[in-house]
Amino acid sequence: MKYEEIVHRCFRCGYCKFTSDYADFNCPSYRKFSFETYSPGGRMWLIRAWLNNEIKNSEHLQEILFSCATCANCVEHCVFTFSDDLVNIFIAAREEMVNKGIIPPPVRDYLKNINISGNPYKEPAEERGKWADGTAIETYDAQDYLFYIGCVGSYDERAKKISRAVGNMLIKAGLSVGILGNREICDGNEVRSLGEMGLFQYLSEQNTSLFKGLGIKKIITLDPHAFNAFKKDYPDLDGEIEIYHYTQILAPLIQSKKIPLKEYKAVVTYHDPCYLGRHNGEYEAPRTILKSIPGIELIEMDQNRENAFCCGGGGGNFFTDILGGGEDSPNRIRVRQALDTGAQIIAVACPQCAKMLDDAVKIEELDDKLEVLDVAEIVTRALA
Ligand code: SF4
Ligand code: SF4
Repeated sequence: MKYEEIVHRCFRCGYCKFTSDYADFNCPSYRKFSFETYSPGGRMWLIRAWLNNEIKNSEHLQEILFSCATCANCVEHCVFTFSDDLVNIFIAAREEMVNKGIIPPPVRDYLKNINISGNPYKEPAEERGKWADGTAIETYDAQDYLFYIGCVGSYDERAKKISRAVGNMLIKAGLSVGILGNREICDGNEVRSLGEMGLFQYLSEQNTSLFKGLGIKKIITLDPHAFNAFKKDYPDLDGEIEIYHYTQILAPLIQSKKIPLKEYKAVVTYHDPCYLGRHNGEYEAPRTILKSIPGIELIEMDQNRENAFCCGGGGGNFFTDILGGGEDSPNRIRVRQALDTGAQIIAVACPQCAKMLDDAVKIEELDDKLEVLDVAEIVTRALA
């Protein structure tokens, strides 16, 4: 396995499972299962034992490896020089399992659906652009920006509302922007994080040749997961095509009052999506938007920015749900953290976080106290 030389360097000191001030456990799978084997250090030792043939492959080992949310809290908090590679190591171990065909059934189903249908929802490609019906958002035809949606924003009912809110906002700001509609294909971020590198390479080549063939120069992504894949894992894209998350485009437009806003009074806390925050260092753009809305009081959760607690949807868990379920599932912990701030709204900037936290608000029976809204949906409420 790639990184074989690194796994033995873990000391199992456990710093990686905490927040920066060591006040709380911040590895979502460790919080959920409360066993050391589900912590980053525990995973390192298990992988080492597996590679050394000291333990055999089992359903339990698969569950441990695939319950990692790839949230990168461990990358942020491991104090050793190999910390940057932690998530890559966990993905490489999954790749080893995928290559041997020994993966949990929900992972197998997810990958099969992407292979067969091009999306995890088993929906036909013709349905992909339907979310934009009835809006002023046009199909891409040499506009300045491509607005790339991804599978969740294209097919999930909750997420489609966010696609429309962001798309309408971009049009309202006067941007020249188009969508691929039925020609859009999966960005593959979750395929990669689940270790299916062959399929990921295929998707990245297809997308790259589509984007370049259409002469696209700038892409705005709805989903931080696509933003991450295009920016960091598509070998031939970054540098040639500018990649933005939509909050990075909206923040200066709202600050410069290109989108005029009226007062909207609300107490809001912001949940950092791991693939926008820790993975790509963008903590401020969504906060700038929220702070620019007159009447919004922004209160931070204790676990914010590089210490944000993951919603539990990363690393494919949004689809496989290996990490979900029970009182200590990460999304339920996260909404309780939000509730503690006294906020009425949890602002998000990721359709996967929106769905995860929406579900948790319902299960925790907090519907009358907390609302989960994308940053663009909050801006929509404040439009003058
Ligand atoms: S991954 Fe790093 S911080 Fe975590 S137990 Fe190993 S050495 Fe310690
Ligand atoms: S990436 Fe997140 S879920 Fe995975 S081991 Fe690290 S802290 Fe835990």
